[in-house]
Amino acid sequence: MIGDLYADEELERLDRDALRALQLLRLKKTVEAALLTPFYSKRLKGVGITSAEDIRTLDDVRKIPYTTKDDLREAYPYGLLSVDRSEIVRMHASSGTTGTPTVIYHTQKDLDQWTNMTVRSLRATGCTKEDVFQNMMTYGLFTGGIGLHYGAERLGMLVIPASSGNTTRQFNMMKDFQTTTVHATPSYMLHLYSRMEEMGYSLKDFNLKRALIGAEPHSEEVRQKIEELFDIDAYNSYGLSEMNGPSVAFECTQKKGMHLWEDAYLVETIDRSSLEPVEEGEMGELVLTILIRTGTPILRYRTKDLAAIIPEPCSCGRTSRRITRIKGRTDDMLIINGVNVFPSQIEEVIMKMPGIGTNYLIKVRKEGTLDKLTIHTEVGAELFTDNAQDLHNLRRRIVEELSASITIKAAVELHEPGFLPVQQGKAIRVVDERGSVF
Ligand SMILES: [Zn+2]
Repeated sequence: MIGDLYADEELERLDRDALRALQLLRLKKTVEAALLTPFYSKRLKGVGITSAEDIRTLDDVRKIPYTTKDDLREAYPYGLLSVDRSEIVRMHASSGTTGTPTVIYHTQKDLDQWTNMTVRSLRATGCTKEDVFQNMMTYGLFTGGIGLHYGAERLGMLVIPASSGNTTRQFNMMKDFQTTTVHATPSYMLHLYSRMEEMGYSLKDFNLKRALIGAEPHSEEVRQKIEELFDIDAYNSYGLSEMNGPSVAFECTQKKGMHLWEDAYLVETIDRSSLEPVEEGEMGELVLTILIRTGTPILRYRTKDLAAIIPEPCSCGRTSRRITRIKGRTDDMLIINGVNVFPSQIEEVIMKMPGIGTNYLIKVRKEGTLDKLTIHTEVGAELFTDNAQDLHNLRRRIVEELSASITIKAAVELHEPGFLPVQQGKAIRVVDERGSVF
């Protein structure tokens, strides 16, 4: 494969023509692998694709039908395997909270390629072998923890495979080993900060320089809050197990969108109603084809994640285009009295308010025939002492700004720190108590 002729540093900066030529070669190879799976051989032959030669240009990818999560479930457990099972060295699976899990299999070469992507991603944020890396993402079938682990080791960082939870131990290790870089969900970073003082620590005890945050869509305001609270740089990242896991896209030190590594992933953005492509720069559902995995090839996967491709080149010189932060999942969108609302819009408003704490919850319920939206958020303890007027003013300001942003009048309830359930791992920020309307 021609991609093997390039060193990874060259791949990051290939000119666009060379990059597209490499994508086409790798796409053909992926289609060839897909034709060996029971699932895709049927699916591709159904649209007249019987060999990789039927893909002549990158635009020919549009001849291939989309793949959905349900397709992956249908192929469970071995329907998407394209090599002999003895060639597979690892599997990862989605949690299966909403039905049959989905499984991805990796050959040793697949894992090596994935590790290349994570090394590249870590380097883009300024990580070097001098760094101490405390990985607070869950290890296991979930790819969040183990995904960056191998890249961090290959880069030469000192890796602490802390996994998630156990906040006391996380603080102890951060102090004792003088951790410089952490990897965590944004909600866990906020949780850490909220517990720091009561656990007897202050920022002076640590040597933290950067946080790599991901696994949850979050707003720019949350990033800034994490940066201000810890006095560090926080870098956004994007990945999903169907596309290996972390390091599909990662921010560089410019922090202006995430480079989606195009030598490894073919990216499309589509309108989720018409399923037609949207223009570069327009928000659409991300559709991804993985170009660096043969164990489980996946073509044109509908991620349900909404983002836009940023067409302008990045000043860092990397040639892979960037995507905006994920606005939300199509699944997450709430319809409140007929108006579409993304939880991220609500988060943006409350996180920029002075005095707001690190934990919030969005609740929706029926009141008569109408939907009622209530935002519960924690505020600093000092506001509860003798500042009833301040509290009242803050609540009124949030209601007004929410109404301007989402065009809905929401009720806002302010609470003391510790009132809301603790968020660890992937945060639950929305409780919809309306039940089914059908
Ligand atoms: Zn860049």
